[in-house]
Amino acid sequence: MKPVVALVGRPNVGKSTLFNRITKSRDAIVADFAGLTRDRHYGDARLGSREFIVIDTGGFEPDKPSGVVAEMAKQTKQAVAEADAVVFVVDMRNGVSGQDHDIARYLRQCNKRVFLAVNKAEGMADSPLLAEFHELGIGEPHPISSAHGQGIRSLLEAVLETF
Ligand code: GDP
Ligand code: MG
Repeated sequence: MKPVVALVGRPNVGKSTLFNRITKSRDAIVADFAGLTRDRHYGDARLGSREFIVIDTGGFEPDKPSGVVAEMAKQTKQAVAEADAVVFVVDMRNGVSGQDHDIARYLRQCNKRVFLAVNKAEGMADSPLLAEFHELGIGEPHPISSAHGQGIRSLLEAVLETF
């Protein structure tokens, strides 16, 4: 069985960009504004000879009455339930937000292996701002740049090492 890795996080942190990097596909819709991806999205990925499946989350139907926050929470929960490991994506340029704390609280009690990816870290991988993300209680922050393809191999090695 291929391990399943879910990408979760609040809108606009770069989950779909990371998904496209990892799967090398253009399948997930990347938007300049939050939430264009319509539903969870599955992709095949490999690192060396290791194959795995990635789940993108964060899409929502714009006219759903439940609203963005509820829909995001629902998709996150479904993807986490399906996953063997979770990559929690946050935004280095934005810092830690209240929504990040809400998601972190959920992830800390889900009994899955969770890895913290601090995206948009191009040119900032050595910044002291990175240490701020320890407060989420998810462990060591991995600086990455999905847009520039930096730090992703080492993040995935950490994730796949546990299988
Ligand atoms: P999602 O809502 O979490 O799926 O985020 P998207 O993948 O749609 O990206 C949201 C925005 O962040 C887009 O404008 C991306 O181009 C931008 N973005 C994604 N990754 C990076 C990155 O590594 N660095 C920078 N500077 N911008 C990024
Ligand atoms: Mg997206």
